[in-house]
Parts: sequence; C-alpha cells; structure tokens
Amino acid sequence: MSPAVVIARSVHEAVSLRLAAVDQRYTHLRRVLVETLAAAGRPLTIPEIVASAPELPQSSAYRNMTALIDLGVVRRVVGADDHGRFELAEELSSHHHHFVCATCGKVEDVHPSPKLERALGEAAQAVAEEQGYQVTEHQLDLLGFCPECRA
Ligand SMILES: [Zn+2]
Ligand SMILES: [Zn+2]
Repeated sequence: MSPAVVIARSVHEAVSLRLAAVDQRYTHLRRVLVETLAAAGRPLTIPEIVASAPELPQSSAYRNMTALIDLGVVRRVVGADDHGRFELAEELSSHHHHFVCATCGKVEDVHPSPKLERALGEAAQAVAEEQGYQVTEHQLDLLGFCPECRA
C-alpha cells in the first residue's frame, strides 16, 4: 500500500469518529469532500472542488462543507480575494502556512522548515509574554506575488 493511501485511511477514520460522536453519518459526499481536500495539497474553492469531483453538486458541496467546518474537520482559509477556500484542519493534515498571491488570489501551502518554526515559536513566545499571554499555536500567511504574476 502506498503511503498516500495509508494517510487517507487514517484521515477518514478520524473524520468518521468525529461525526459518530455527534450522531452524524460519514456520507459518500462528505467522504468525497474530505478526499478531494486531502489530495489537493492547497486550499480549494468550492468551484475547484466541484470541478475535480463532478459527482458533487455545488449546493450540497456548500452544505456539507459547512457541516464539516462546524465539526472542526475543515477550516476556511482567508486569501486576498472574496473566494472562500477550504482545507482540512491541521490535526488531520499537518502544521503549515500559506503563500497568498495578491494579484491572482492563488493560495498555496508552505511547509516551514524546523528552523523557521523554531524562530517563529520563540518570537511569538517573547511577544506573548510581554502581554501576559500564553501561545498555544500560530497561523501565519505570507502575502506577495506568485511566480506567474511576477513574470
Ligand atoms: Zn498570482
Ligand atoms: Zn508554523
């Protein structure tokens, strides 16, 4: 079995358990949604999801996405335009950041080096302590221009 298949199976198990805890079923459409997000490797808009999973009608994509957000399985990513983009929650994928293109609106995942994570963590800790806060996690999106828009 390829590593990608193993990862997908554990994600499905985690989502299924979470749905079962609130007496909801992991329907075929929800499975397709989760699978599409897991495979993308970047946040997707609803039209992008529907384009890559034609069996998913747009209206039910929205409805099921809302249900998955309410359960903490999916989170909405804010970009530089008005399009809502969606990705799996970090506990189901892995900790990462985003590049956001200010021109075309594209959002891509950034997997930070351990060095960057350490530096960010220490800087965040220092500024939090000044104001009496305790940091438990961080979100950081980098805005700029993608390679195509720079050209
Ligand atoms: Zn761009
Ligand atoms: Zn980070």
